Amino acid sequence: MNDIPNALYVVATPIGNLGDITQRALETLRGADLIACEDTRHAHTLLDHHGIRAQTVPLHEHNEAAASVRVVEALRAGRKVALISDAGTPGISDPGARACAAVRAAGFRVVPLPGPSAAITALSAAGLPDARFLFAGFLPPKPTARRHEIEALKGIPAALVFYEAPHRVEEAVADLVAVLEPERTLVVARELTKLFEQIAVMPLAEGPAWLAADENRKRGEFVLVVSAPPPSVGLSAESERVLKALLAELPLKQAAKLAAEITGSAKNALYERALQLKDG
Ligand code: SAM
Repeated sequence: MNDIPNALYVVATPIGNLGDITQRALETLRGADLIACEDTRHAHTLLDHHGIRAQTVPLHEHNEAAASVRVVEALRAGRKVALISDAGTPGISDPGARACAAVRAAGFRVVPLPGPSAAITALSAAGLPDARFLFAGFLPPKPTARRHEIEALKGIPAALVFYEAPHRVEEAVADLVAVLEPERTLVVARELTKLFEQIAVMPLAEGPAWLAADENRKRGEFVLVVSAPPPSVGLSAESERVLKALLAELPLKQAAKLAAEITGSAKNALYERALQLKDG
C-alpha cells in the first residue's frame, strides 16, 4: 500500500509533538520522489528531523491550482508524490482538496494516510456524551458574519468543533455564549500535544471569565468544542406529550417526523428527544 508509484499519498503529520507520526507516514515520506508541502521551510523541520531528503514543492492556498498541475505531471512521469500540510491532516482547514480532485480527475489514485488532526485530538479527550459532531473549522473573522454562522449551526443536534486563532478566541467565545444555549458545555483545548497543553471543560457561559482569568489561557492554538444543544430545547409540554404518544406506537424516526408535522416543533429537536426517551 505504500509503494503504488502513480499515486498521491496524503500524509497527516504532527500537530505539535514530532513523535506523533505513524510508521507508514515515515516510510511513505522516505520513499517519495516529491513532497508537496504547504510551506517548504516549515516542512523541513519535520523532514530534517527524520532525515528525509526528498525534493519539495510548495502547495498552498494561493497556488494550489498550479501546484496541482505539477503534482499530476510528476505522477504522469511515474514519480511517487506525497502531500503534507503545515500540521495535522491535509484538507482539514488546510490546502489539499483541489490537489486530490485534480489527481483523481487525471486518473490517478489518492491514498490517504491517517494521523493527527487537532479536531479529532480535542474530541478524543473532550469527554462529551454526544455521539455526533460537526466540524465547523474557523468561524468568520467579522463579528456579524460570525454570529450568523453560529446562528446557522445552533439547531444542529451535534457537538460543534471550531478552530480558532489566539487573537480571536475571546471574541469567538463571547459570540458562542451570546448565541447558543447557556447550558451547553464548552471545551477549550489549547496547545494539544505540546508542552503547555490544556484541556478545560466548563459551562459555556463561563467561557469568557475563564479566558479572562489568565493571559496564558489566550495563547497558542485552539480547538473549541461546544456540546450539542440540550435535546428538549424549544419543545413545549404539548410537543413532548404528542411525541411520547406517537413513540408508543411508531418507530422513532416516524414518530419524530409526525410529531414535527402535528406540533410544528423542529424535527431535529424531536428526534433528539425521542432518542433520549428511548435510551431511558
Ligand atoms: N490540518 C490541521 C488539522 O488537521 O488539525 C488544521 C490546520 S488549521 C490551518 C490550524 C488550526 O488548527 C489552528 O489555528 C488551531 O485552531 C488548530 N490546531 C492545530 N494544531 C493545534 C494544536 N496543537 N492544539 C490546538 N489546536 C490546534
